Amino acid sequence: MGFIRIWSEVDIHEIQEHIVMVDDISGHCPKCKKIGIPLKGLTKCPSCGIEFRYVTSKEARGGRSDIVTRIRKKLPDLVFVDYDDYDRLTGKDRAENLFKI
Ligand SMILES: [Zn+2]
Repeated sequence: MGFIRIWSEVDIHEIQEHIVMVDDISGHCPKCKKIGIPLKGLTKCPSCGIEFRYVTSKEARGGRSDIVTRIRKKLPDLVFVDYDDYDRLTGKDRAENLFKI
């Protein structure tokens, strides 16, 4: 089995509410800033209790499919989001919010 990246139209706010950022060993909840969350069987934040449905990793940037494969093995129920896409959309969002003020 291999991986390909598929583009789909998403609600970035929905993803922001349910995403965990991970490296090879642990996760980080962007919502409550909790770091060092063990990955195995992770479905919700042990600190703030939000349900994780999406995962992304800075280390997988540039299509590092070996890293995606390892993370997918640990977190098979979460949808893997491309870090640069996530960063681009949330960055755009931050800029828009800035201009509203
Ligand atoms: Zn949290």
